[in-house]
Amino acid sequence: VSGKVQRFLAAMLQGHRPPQDKVYLTNVRRDPGPLVSDVCAEMRRRKWLFEIGQGHIGLSGPVLRLSEYLNRHSRGLFVERFTAAEYSFPALIRSDILTRCGYFESHPNNTTLVTHLIEDFDLIEEFRQSNATGVAMVQLPSRDAVAAPHTCLNPAACFPVYYTLEDNTIPASGTAMTFLGRVFRYESKNMASLERLWEFNVRELVFVGGPTYILQQRDEVVQLIGYLGAELDLDMQIQTATDPFFATVSTAKKMWQQSMESKYEIRLTVGHDGNGRPRTIAAGSVNVHGTFFGERFAIKTDAGQVACTGCLGLGIERFVYAAFTQHGFDAGRWPTAIAQEIFSDRREGNEA
Ligand SMILES: [Zn+2]
Repeated sequence: VSGKVQRFLAAMLQGHRPPQDKVYLTNVRRDPGPLVSDVCAEMRRRKWLFEIGQGHIGLSGPVLRLSEYLNRHSRGLFVERFTAAEYSFPALIRSDILTRCGYFESHPNNTTLVTHLIEDFDLIEEFRQSNATGVAMVQLPSRDAVAAPHTCLNPAACFPVYYTLEDNTIPASGTAMTFLGRVFRYESKNMASLERLWEFNVRELVFVGGPTYILQQRDEVVQLIGYLGAELDLDMQIQTATDPFFATVSTAKKMWQQSMESKYEIRLTVGHDGNGRPRTIAAGSVNVHGTFFGERFAIKTDAGQVACTGCLGLGIERFVYAAFTQHGFDAGRWPTAIAQEIFSDRREGNEA
């Protein structure tokens, strides 16, 4: 173990520099009420949140209605303001597509592999018998009983777009697409209800086109998120950020990301640290990828260039978590329009 820790630390510290975050937009909450701690415990008590397993949850009541409202409302804004075309993509993604997206190279530790039993009568029968009654963990007859994983659960909402556009030519003046992505990131013991999930939902907006178009859209996206933050009345900042890359590639990739300012994060306040400073979580990001995906998937513009791409992902569950932390369970603290959406139970015609 100590050898592994040493190698991890050496990889993380090599060439490390403290990050300098640039802030692009700030929204300040008008609700004067205090932050509510441990909102998930109260949601569980009210039966608005159900832990099905580690990092996967079910929702009901106002928590579900807020998540549906956020998805519906942001989809409407993306279609209206960016004339985004609507799509849907599966939760499954082929491993070779993830390889081409560079995912295994950067985030191997977050991968969720999907497999199935091989088509062998005796092995399947053996599996049936050993798993027919109460097992916590699936018993495999042998390691060879499962196929090599050629499929994964999608770990970043926008990946299916690039494969879908392979060999296409896009107007340099740009095109936008939006969809609800179901996203899976395995995070071991860190996975906790709402704040960090294995399976979560992302309302995604993807831009494909010439370089000018992508940068213009990024500016407009920042303004739109500011508008959303004001509507929801959230303490929020949009700032430069880097991804939590796997240790052995972390330093180089983080430095590249910082120098290119290729990633902005939407950070929402969910508490205070020991020194009274706000503790924030990333509830979404705005990314520009340059020609990375355009090159990998041969996407061109009608101006004859390799297409550039960019995306915005809104993490629905984290917005819900931060909004309840900032406004609590009293409808009177929420912006009126949103309180009406989420706290009135239309089915029973009474207040939740
Ligand atoms: Zn994306």
